[in-house]
Amino acid sequence: MNKFLVFLEQREGIVKKSSLSTWNRVQELAALRGESVVSGILCGPLDIQQLDGTLSGDGVMYHASDDGLRLYNQKYYTSLIADIFKREACSALFFADTAMSRDLAPRLSVRLQASLLSGCSFVETDAAGGCVRSVYSGSFLASFVPKQRERIYILSSRVPEAAYFSGGHLEFRSLDTQSFTAEDLFPVVRRIVMREGSPDVAEASIIVAGGRGMRSAESFARLEQLAALLGGSVGASRTAVDEGWRPHAEQIGQTGKTVAPVLYFACGISGAAQHLAGIGDAGIVVAINSDRHAPIFDVADYGIVGDVHLVLPKLIDSLKEFLKKK
Ligand SMILES: Cc1cc2nc3c(=O)[nH]c(=O)nc-3n(C[C@H](O)[C@H](O)[C@H](O)COP(=O)(O)OP(=O)(O)OC[C@H]3O[C@@H](n4cnc5c(N)ncnc54)[C@H](O)[C@@H]3O)c2cc1C
Repeated sequence: MNKFLVFLEQREGIVKKSSLSTWNRVQELAALRGESVVSGILCGPLDIQQLDGTLSGDGVMYHASDDGLRLYNQKYYTSLIADIFKREACSALFFADTAMSRDLAPRLSVRLQASLLSGCSFVETDAAGGCVRSVYSGSFLASFVPKQRERIYILSSRVPEAAYFSGGHLEFRSLDTQSFTAEDLFPVVRRIVMREGSPDVAEASIIVAGGRGMRSAESFARLEQLAALLGGSVGASRTAVDEGWRPHAEQIGQTGKTVAPVLYFACGISGAAQHLAGIGDAGIVVAINSDRHAPIFDVADYGIVGDVHLVLPKLIDSLKEFLKKK
């Protein structure tokens, strides 16, 4: 019997879309493997009713709701996940590809003596449990086979969405943990709260991203305005982040986040391979660039050759007019 454990991540009490989708993908994998059961683990206080109608199949969901786990804590999250993994004699642990999982998974790999397979775009259903991931900024696909019986997978957002199927019974079990006191926690140096109502760039369905062509931090106000009108989030190229115009949390690409929005605006972004590595799953790509030969136009569905500082105000005004008439 294979036992799979899925870590579901919450921020501000809301479970991440990418975690819900990871759960559903693992349920699908378990169904294909046969004789497999799925459990999940949630850390931090949250209203579990939000999960109604989102999680496929059946299984057990462990919930450690102590208020001390509201914010991510490496030490306690690692212990809680490792304890459940061992207690349930699981063979595989699954994460969505997020900043938190990139921190947690390597620690757990050492703690559990488990093979770590990250960036998996496909997981084999056979007993070897290998995975396929893209390498060299998406230029090649490579297969990896884990050495250990215990495995940890970080699923890329490129794994095709699994369809939600109901019918099973999900049992919630509270995890009785010690109460985590402030002294137990690592000090919080700075807490960055994203614009209210604006999803994390990795989860956003509309992204308005800017690069060096934006020229300054101040000019990103236009991208924020456009994102707010469209109900999307602001993203950035590495150059915009290195210049200090935007936080690293918004960086898209090889060393940033992989995104899969339905609509992606690239404003003053050249389209370097390392940037494109993060937007391979974007739906419609709209590029605004003053250089008609910029590589971003090779992947764009719509291209506007022009100065972003002239095009964006016009685009914003037209959109406002359009929304007023709706
Ligand atoms: C190991 C490694 C990892 C990397 N990881 C990442 C990553 O995760 N994400 C990432 O983005 N990059 C990454 N990079 C960097 C990447 O190679 C590029 O340097 C970077 O993406 C370029 O950012 P940019 O497009 O904003 O800037 P540039 O390449 O300088 O392009 C600016 C673009 O703006 C246009 N422009 C200028 N002025 C205007 C204007 N007024 N109006 C309209 N267009 C204008 C220009 O024509 C140009 O096309 C990585 C590099 C390495 C080596």
